[in-house]
Amino acid sequence: MGILEVKGVGKRFGGLQALGDVNLSIKENSVHAIIGPNGAGKSTLLNCLVGKLIPDTGSVMFDGQSVLGRSPHEICQMGISRVFQTPEIFGDLTVMENVLIACFAKRDGSFELNAITSVRSQSDMRDMAETILRDVNMLDKHAMHAASLSRGDKRRLEMAMCLVQQPRMLLLDEPTAGMARADTNNTIDLLKEIRDTRDITIAIIEHDMHVVFSLADRITVLAQGTPLVEDSPENIKGHPKVREAYLGE
Ligand code: ADP
Ligand code: MG
Repeated sequence: MGILEVKGVGKRFGGLQALGDVNLSIKENSVHAIIGPNGAGKSTLLNCLVGKLIPDTGSVMFDGQSVLGRSPHEICQMGISRVFQTPEIFGDLTVMENVLIACFAKRDGSFELNAITSVRSQSDMRDMAETILRDVNMLDKHAMHAASLSRGDKRRLEMAMCLVQQPRMLLLDEPTAGMARADTNNTIDLLKEIRDTRDITIAIIEHDMHVVFSLADRITVLAQGTPLVEDSPENIKGHPKVREAYLGE
């Protein structure tokens, strides 16, 4: 049994079957990558796992409990945190304030801006936020406005916002999209550190094969809303069906 068990998940948008019949089992404390061409349904699948979308069919179980029908906040409290494809940070607020808001959101269930005034006074949260910012190497930038960060640092901040929620599982949708190579390599190092130093299961959607092969223990290839194959990175590299359907050979 995996910590996350997806069975028979389907999702339709009007006439489009975005997910057909997805079965996926993710082992606790592993890094599981989901790859596949644009439009394969990767983000849709992730959204179904975090309560942003409700699948039409199937079940999603996290640590033996159903995720379906729960609000994103309840799912967060179950121990799942996520980074979406487009960064979701508050540009007008400082790095520290963003992390505090994420902390607050897990406890009280909202990402409201006015929460920040009450949050400022909570020293336990501030201590935790400081620790996480130090862990992701951003403490020196704590007072900067989030909008002024580089793309790589925005991703790093989002990662801090997830980690401060002390998740058991981290879901990442293309964390290195649009990054320069140096930032990508920093992100790989950060994720390796998270993998090696915390009891966190990571599911990562990623188009950059260098990232995938640097991190993943298992890889699922999704094509047209259905898993084509799941295997170790070594086997995926040489898989004829994958080369044909995904690598375009
Ligand atoms: P991927 O992340 O693998 O690139 P997506 O999950 O974003 O793919 O999309 C899968 C398919 O579903 C695409 O054809 C996309 O256009 C469609 N789709 C995704 N979200 C919606 C939506 N909210 N409404 C309608 N169609 C959508
Ligand atoms: Mg996507």
